[in-house]
Amino acid sequence: MALPEHGITRDDILGRLDSFKERDVRWRDGHAFTLAYNAGEDVVALAEEAYRRFATENALNTDAFPSLRRLQTEVCGIVGDWLQAGPDGAGFLTTGGTESLLMAVKAARQRGRRERNVERPNIVLPTSAHAAFEKGCYYFGMESRRVPVRDDWRADADAMADAIDDDTVLVVGSAPQYPQGVVDPIADIAALAAERDINCHVDGCMGGVTLTYLARLGHDIPPWNFSVPGVTSISVDLHKYGYTAKGASVIMHRDKRLRADQTFVTDNWLGGVYGSSAVLGTKSGGAWAAAWAVLHYLGDEGYLRLTAAARAAAEELATAIEGIPQLSLRAQPQATLLAFGATDPEALDVFAVADALWRRGWYLDRQGPPASLHCTVNAVHQGKIPTFVADLRAAVAEVEAAHGQGAQGAYGTVE
Ligand SMILES: *Cc1c(COP(=O)(O)O)cnc(C)c1O
Repeated sequence: MALPEHGITRDDILGRLDSFKERDVRWRDGHAFTLAYNAGEDVVALAEEAYRRFATENALNTDAFPSLRRLQTEVCGIVGDWLQAGPDGAGFLTTGGTESLLMAVKAARQRGRRERNVERPNIVLPTSAHAAFEKGCYYFGMESRRVPVRDDWRADADAMADAIDDDTVLVVGSAPQYPQGVVDPIADIAALAAERDINCHVDGCMGGVTLTYLARLGHDIPPWNFSVPGVTSISVDLHKYGYTAKGASVIMHRDKRLRADQTFVTDNWLGGVYGSSAVLGTKSGGAWAAAWAVLHYLGDEGYLRLTAAARAAAEELATAIEGIPQLSLRAQPQATLLAFGATDPEALDVFAVADALWRRGWYLDRQGPPASLHCTVNAVHQGKIPTFVADLRAAVAEVEAAHGQGAQGAYGTVE
């Protein structure tokens, strides 16, 4: 496709861009149980406006843009406070959970080299830990040692201990893990790291905000943040339950020395000293401004309210699914994520149920093994659960009647 010879008008362009979205998933009105989060039109509009004002500012160099340095310092300070990082805590903003996890993996490799000359590093992690850890091992030439989860889907710390050897540089727990939405035994996993003086990353990409506020709301949340000895870094995605624009996550390290293992500096070219805090070089300041704006707009009260709303919707959905005999909930949600499969997989194909739901406008993630559907419930779903459950029942009945079969689909895409 060649570029049109003559430019077209602004109105024409914006109209066409809007029209491209017509068949997209309807996240604004709560029809997506994945990928997008909505705390209200006012919040979305503020994030977009703040993003626009910093879209062209370059977060590669915070010396040239003291505004961006300030945004990063203040956003990381707030997240550090949530995570009980203490005065030594040191974080950076990244473009998302994947980049935060890549940096956790890279920092662990660096510490292994620096302190123990580890040449063939491995990481020990439960089968439930996010795919981005796999990507990190692939990118950075490390071995991924996946350890099966327990029957309750939580990490098996004893089995992880058996998988650790002298070349292990990192152990991982998730709070909560994505596939079934349960919190790993972080204290037990972090103890493995503390005994051996290696890194322990807690993946709080999904739960970092939610678990912090659920604890404040009086829920019984097992310890998972820097209050746990042995935890060396934690990731929190602001573009999920921080309800800000895409492109914002924080990776927080216990101290500056550990954070230094993530950064990269070189002068081995003709362009002078070049340093970067994470994977990217030039990147937009927009996501940083949007994150700062939304955090300050919502305030502590806003996150308490949104967390309570999302949690109530997740509990309502979990209870409704338990009332549908053909479906079984994989685990009681500990935060706001849940998954369910067919009670009898021979009789009902849950991926066909996902197809039938999509025809009704609802979008869920498909996952396995075992074949399940996954719901990331957020504040936008408050009040939407009864309509969804009615459509879910109808979809199950339709698939049962037709003996339909569906396709697995994918959480991410490559084309
Ligand atoms: C979403 C998620 C990630 C990856 O984050 P992206 O923002 O999609 O790159 C990592 N870990 C968990 C638990 C997640 O839910």
